[in-house]
Amino acid sequence: MKILVADDDKGVRAALSDRLHKWGYDVVEAGTAKEAMKQLYMEAPPKIALINWTLPEMEGADICKRIVESGNVPFIYTILLSENRTDEAIMKALDGGACDFIPKPVNTAMLNSRIRIGARLLDADKRLNHYAREIDNYSNEMKRLSITDYLTGVYSRRYFFEQAILELERAGRYNRKLSVVIIDIDHFKQLNDSYGHLAGDEVLMVLAENAGTILRKTDLMARYGGEEFVLLLPETDGPGAFKLAERLRKSIEDFKVEFDDKEITFTISIGIAEIKSSDETIEEMIAGAGEALNDAKKKGRNRTELKKD
Ligand code: GH3
Ligand code: MG
Ligand code: MG
Repeated sequence: MKILVADDDKGVRAALSDRLHKWGYDVVEAGTAKEAMKQLYMEAPPKIALINWTLPEMEGADICKRIVESGNVPFIYTILLSENRTDEAIMKALDGGACDFIPKPVNTAMLNSRIRIGARLLDADKRLNHYAREIDNYSNEMKRLSITDYLTGVYSRRYFFEQAILELERAGRYNRKLSVVIIDIDHFKQLNDSYGHLAGDEVLMVLAENAGTILRKTDLMARYGGEEFVLLLPETDGPGAFKLAERLRKSIEDFKVEFDDKEITFTISIGIAEIKSSDETIEEMIAGAGEALNDAKKKGRNRTELKKD
C-alpha cells in the first residue's frame, strides 16, 4: 500500500518514511503542499496520506478539505499531524475533511494502529465499490433483458409501445412523418409442423437478422408476439415504408435457411400504416397496419399492403 508523507521538515519526513518502509508500506514524500497535491491527484494516488498541519503554500487541514470537496475518488485516508493544536482546531479540521489526527511528536505504535484503522476503512470502501459495480452491471443487464426479446434479440413489445408513444407525440407536435409496419410469417404453423419448432425459432432469428441489415439506426424493430414483428419508422411516410418493406420481403423470399442439412425457405406478409393526424394513437396505427396485413394475407400472402385512407 502506498502512503504519502507530507512534511516540510526533512528530518521528520525521513524518520516517518523509514518507519513506514520497515512496516512494509511503499512511501512517497512531499516537502510542500504543492508537491503533496501533485501526489494526491495522480492517477494512482497514495491510499493513506500523513500530512503535516503546517506546510509551505497551504495548510494540511485545507489539503484534507480540498480532497473531500473534490469527491475523494479514489478514497484517500488522510491523517493530520501537528503539535500544539487546540481541541477546537483539531475538531474543525476533522469536521472539514481530515480522517484522523495524530499529535507530534508521533508515537510510532499509535501511528501503526491508526494506519491499520485507515487500511480497514479502505478495504471496506473497496468492497462497497465492488458491490456497487456489481449492482450496476446487474441493473444494466436487467434493463437490457426487459427491453429485448430473448430469442431474436430485437426489442420487446413493451419497449416498442414506450418508444412508439414518444415518437407519435413528436411526429404529431412537429408534423413529422411516421410509419408503423407489421410483419407476419406466412404459414408459420405449417413450417413448424414440417421442420420442427427449433427450425421455426431459427426462421424467426433469420428474419430479425435480415431486417437488422436493412433498417436505419433510428428505426426500431420489436417482436410483437409469436411470429409477428413490428417496425417503428420515424421520418418515413407510407410509400417510403413500402419500399423498405418490399426490400425486406424480397430478401426473405430469396433467403435459404440452413437447418439440420435442410434448406428452408419462407415468406412474409407485411401491413403498413402511416400517421394521418396529430391526435392519432399507436393503437389506431397498429390496427391500421393490421388491416393492411390482413389484406396482404387475403390477396395471397408474400406481399406488402399499405393501409388505404
Ligand atoms: P398465416 O400465414 O395466416 O400467418 O399462418 P400462420 O401459420 O403463420 O399463422 P398462425 O397464427 O396460425 O400460426 C402462428 C404459429 O406461430 C403458431 C405458433 O405455434 C407459432 N409460434 C409462435 N411463437 C413461436 C416461437 O417462438 N417459436 C416457434 N417456433 N413458433 C412459434
Ligand atoms: Mg400471426
Ligand atoms: Mg403467420
